[in-house]
Amino acid sequence: MPSRDAKPGAPLNRASPPTVSSHAVTTPRSSACPGLLRIVPARDGGICRIKLPGGVLSAAQAHAIADASTLYANGVAELTNRANLQLRGVRSGHEAPLSAALIGAGLGPSTANDPHTTVPTALSYADDVRNVMISPAAGRDPHALIDTTPLCAELLTLLQSDARFAALSPKFALLLDGGERLARVDHPHDVWLAASAEEQGVRFVFGLARCPGSTGNNVNAGDHPDADGTGALAAVPPSHVPALVRALLHTFLDLAAAATRMRDLLATHSADAVLRHAQRYVDFPLARDASLRRWQRHIPADASLRLGAHAQRGDGMWHVGGQPPLGRIDAATLRGLAALAQRHGNGMLHATPWQSVLLTDIATNAVPAVLAKLSALGLACDPAQAITHVIACAGSSGCAKGLADTKTDALQLAERLPAGVEVHLTGCPRSCAAAHRAPYTLLAAAPGRYDLYRRDGRPGFGQCVAPQLTIDEAAALLARLVRSTPHA
Ligand code: SF4
Repeated sequence: MPSRDAKPGAPLNRASPPTVSSHAVTTPRSSACPGLLRIVPARDGGICRIKLPGGVLSAAQAHAIADASTLYANGVAELTNRANLQLRGVRSGHEAPLSAALIGAGLGPSTANDPHTTVPTALSYADDVRNVMISPAAGRDPHALIDTTPLCAELLTLLQSDARFAALSPKFALLLDGGERLARVDHPHDVWLAASAEEQGVRFVFGLARCPGSTGNNVNAGDHPDADGTGALAAVPPSHVPALVRALLHTFLDLAAAATRMRDLLATHSADAVLRHAQRYVDFPLARDASLRRWQRHIPADASLRLGAHAQRGDGMWHVGGQPPLGRIDAATLRGLAALAQRHGNGMLHATPWQSVLLTDIATNAVPAVLAKLSALGLACDPAQAITHVIACAGSSGCAKGLADTKTDALQLAERLPAGVEVHLTGCPRSCAAAHRAPYTLLAAAPGRYDLYRRDGRPGFGQCVAPQLTIDEAAALLARLVRSTPHA
C-alpha cells in the first residue's frame, strides 16, 4: 500500500504506482537537532537554529534577530556552515517567546501562518526540511549557467508542502549548484544537482550523497568525509527538477528502513536500484547516463570571492563580503550590517556557508564605503587575513562534549597563523563546525591541547602528524608544514 501521505497522482508526475516497502518510512521522527521551535539545551543554554531560505534575510529580519538574541539569548548570532543562523544561550523559560518572535518576523516555515498547520509539531517538521543550499551569489555570479533562486524557492515549497517529508532527518539536505564561481561544492549533500551547459541547453546533472565534480583543486573525492555517494548519475532539464527531487525523496522514504541519510541507503541499495525505484514516480527517463561518468563542473569554485568586492553579472553592481571572526555576530554588529544593506545595497543580507556575510547590489561608488564599514564592524574582507581561514565548533565553553575551549584557542591561533592555512578546531570528533574535511584539523585532546591532523584522503580527519600540541606549538608546526608543502 502506498503511504497515505505520499499523495500519488498528477502532482507527483508519477508514471506508475510505486511498490512501497513494508519498512517504508512514513511517520515523523524524533530529533535532537536544534530548530526554530526545537530549542536544544547545551552547556551555555539553549540553541535555536534559524533556517534562511537561500541564505537570505532582510534588514528587518536581521533587526528582529538582534532584538530576540538580546532579549532571550546571549546576544550573539552565529553563522552556520549551511548558511543559516543560530542563537545560543537561550535562557530557560524564554524558548516559546523566542520562537514566536522569530516566526513573527517571517523567519518560520511557509506554513507558519496557515491556521491548519499551526500545531507546533507540524510547524517544527516543516521547519526541519528547509534544507536547500544555493550559492550566496545565485542570480548575480557572472559565471553562473542559471539563476537557481526561483528553483530553490520551488523546492523549499515542495519540501514543506508534503506531509510525508516530515519523516526526513533534519540533516537531510539538497544542493542546487547553478555553476557559480562563488559556490560551496565541497560539502556532501544527500541529493546534489548541478547546472551543466549541454547542446540542448542547461540541464541539471544530479547525484547522491556526495558533491558535484569539479575541475578545481579544492574538491576531490578523497577530501570528502563520505566516500559512499555517487558521481553524476543522469541529467534533467530545469523544469523536471522538482519532480525529480520529489521522486528521489519518496524513493528514499520508501526504501530507507532505519537509514536516515542517503549514504546509509546506498550502503544497502545500489544507485541503479534507487533510480529504478524513482522512475516509478516520474514520466521522464531516469536511467543512469554513462556519458556523465566523468562529468565535472565547468569552472572551479573559488571561496575567496566571498570576501571583498566583486562585480555582479551584467548590472554594473557589486557584491561585497566580509567574515566576522569565527562566524559570530553580536547584536550591535548585526544591526550595523542591516543598516549598511539598507543604505547601500538592496536591503538584504546573504549568509554564506563559510560563515561570512555578503551584501549585494552595491553601486560602484559605494564600494569603498561599504568595505570600510564592514572592517569597522570587525569583519575581515581580505582572504589574506588568517582569521578567514579558521573555523571552530562551540568547544567546552558551550558544549559538554568539548575537551577544549576551541573558540578562544582559535582566536589565539589566528594571530600566529601563516597566511592562507585552513584550520578547523574541533572539541571532539563529531566535527560540528565542518561538513567537509579541512586541510588541517586540530582535534582537542585536553584543555589547551590538540592533536594535529593533515587531510590526506583517508577517512576521518586524515593523518595525525603531531599529538598533544599547545596552540603556540600548533602554529609553529603549521608554519613549517606549509613552508614544506605550500599547496597542502
Ligand atoms: S564538535 Fe563536539 S565539542 Fe564541538 S560542538 Fe560538536 S559535539 Fe560539541
